[in-house]
Order: sequence, then C-alpha cells, then structure tokens
Amino acid sequence: MAQILDGVALSRRIRAELASQITKEGLSPGLAVVLVGENPASQVYVRNKARAAEETGILSQTHLLPADTTQTALLDLIARLNEDPKIHGILVQMPLPPALDPQAVIAAMDPAKDVDGFHPVNVGRLSLGLPCFVPCTPQGCMLLLREVLPDPAGKRALVIGRSNIVGKPVAQLLLQADCTVTMAHSRTPDLAGECRRADILVAAIGRPHFVQGDWIKDGAIVIDVGITRVADSADAEKTRLVGDVDYEAATPRAAAITPVPGGVGPMTIACLMRNTFLSAQARGL
Ligand code: NAP
Repeated sequence: MAQILDGVALSRRIRAELASQITKEGLSPGLAVVLVGENPASQVYVRNKARAAEETGILSQTHLLPADTTQTALLDLIARLNEDPKIHGILVQMPLPPALDPQAVIAAMDPAKDVDGFHPVNVGRLSLGLPCFVPCTPQGCMLLLREVLPDPAGKRALVIGRSNIVGKPVAQLLLQADCTVTMAHSRTPDLAGECRRADILVAAIGRPHFVQGDWIKDGAIVIDVGITRVADSADAEKTRLVGDVDYEAATPRAAAITPVPGGVGPMTIACLMRNTFLSAQARGL
C-alpha cells in the first residue's frame, strides 16, 4: 500500500521554517499579487496566497484590476512594482482575460522579482542548470518526491503533460536530478506502456482519473499535479476535486502517491513563499 505524500503537512513545515528564518535574518519580504478580472478559481488562489504570505511573515499586496484593464495599464503597474523596493516578488495570476497578452506581461517583469519562474530569463537559466527562480508547482513536486526518494538518480521518470508551467519545468528538474526522463503528451502512443515502465510518474494533464491503476508500475512514486472539479457521485448537488490519477486503484501498486487535494496544491503556495523569501534574502532586505 502506498505511502501518502502529505503536501499539507510538508508545506506547513516549509512555511514554519521560512517564518522563523525571516525573523532570524530580520527580513521584510514583500509579495505583490495581481489579479485581473473575476475568475472565481483565481480569486480563491489569490486569497490563499495572501493568507499564506501573512502567516509566513511576508508582506502581501493584492492588486485587483477590472476585467477590461488595458495591456498598457497592466504593464504600467508591473513597471511600478519592478521599481518598488518593498516588493521582492511579483505574481500575475493566470489566466488573464483574452484581450491581454500573458507573454508580454511576463516579459515585462524584472526577472529578479519573477517568483513564479515564468520569465524567459528564468526559464532559460533553469534549462541551463543555472541559479534561477524555479517554478513553484514543479519545485513542490520535487520536494514531495525527495521526501521518499532523496536521490532519484538513475530512475526512469515519466512526465505526462508538456505545459510551460508544469510539464516542461518538472522534466528539467528530474533531468537535473539525473533521472532518465520521458515526456508524454496528447500525441504519445501507448501511454499505458510508458507509464508501466516509469519508476516516477508525474501526471499534469488536467483530466480526472485519466491514469488507470493498472498503468502504475509496482513500487512507483506517483506525483499527481492535476486538479479538476467534478460532480460528487454520492451527492449530485456537491462537487469535489480529483486528480489525473485514479487514486484508489493506483494506491495498492504505488510505493508513494500524492493525494488530490492535499498533495501538490499546498506545495505550490509554500514554494511561492520560499521564492519570495529567497528574493528578499538575495537583496538582504
Ligand atoms: P495544460 O497547459 O492544459 O497542459 C495539459 C497537458 O496535458 C498538455 O501538454 C497536453 O498535451 C496533455 N494532455 C492532454 N490530454 C492528454 C492525453 N489524452 N494524453 C496525454 N497527454 C494529454 O495544463 P497545465 O497547466 O500543465 O495543468 C495540468 C493540470 O495540473 C491541471 O489539472 C491543472 O489544474 C493542474 N495544476 C495544478 C497546480 C497545483 O498547484 N497543484 C498548478 C498548475 C496546474 P498536448 O500538449 O499534446 O496538448
């Protein structure tokens, strides 16, 4: 039976350590979170990030902008935050309304404040193995993995999903950890066969229970990044969050598995706090 990789407990530990480090070093890290429009899921994420920042001793500013904000107005705000000495991390909550260009917004950020690790400079530095802001969700996946496998060198890792925010950076980090990495996506034939060869499986697809229990290699470590809200089969009026992996069916085969919710999700926020702390520490502020 798989060990449950508890992201809630690990993220709490990380945030508590950060809070004491911030106090010890006398730092005043500042995080600016920008939300454009009223996407309900984004509103929840932004609230959670602000709360986590407060609990960690990080000053958080939330900038709520209307959905019809122009590209120029958003870029002006980014420019002001780039110059603000109290702000060490800037995060623009995605997705942006369709009229705004997310790549232009990310590129306008000071890479030294890009705590999400999405700026092309940080993406390039990650692929070169140079110091950079490591994107939060992939960083969280690696921290959970290392809880049960401190040295994953030589393991066969499969990453399903090739997005810029999860799949590609997770694959980079697994490669840096000396895994033999395969990336799968919607055009991959025989995904089940790829899964059955994987010692480490990271699923970042966004399709509920897509990865079947009998695709899991015995003793594999399963990191489930997917989060999808589905109707609750027991109560039609309720919904629940599920991952990309059929958790019940995978648990008897895997050596360790992340639950959804309570696995990768809370780690993303803890790693955002960590990146903001590191940014403040780098400037001695
Ligand atoms: P995304 O940009 O939509 O990418 C999904 C990836 O899955 C794509 O590369 C796609 O392949 C692949 N895919 C889709 N259908 C597939 C199939 N049938 N077989 C194999 N691969 C398939 O998604 P994302 O932003 O990476 O997010 C993925 C999931 O993680 C979502 O559920 C999201 O909510 C969740 N997420 C969680 C956190 C967290 O903090 N826990 C953070 C970010 C995302 P193609 O490239 O070929 O289309």
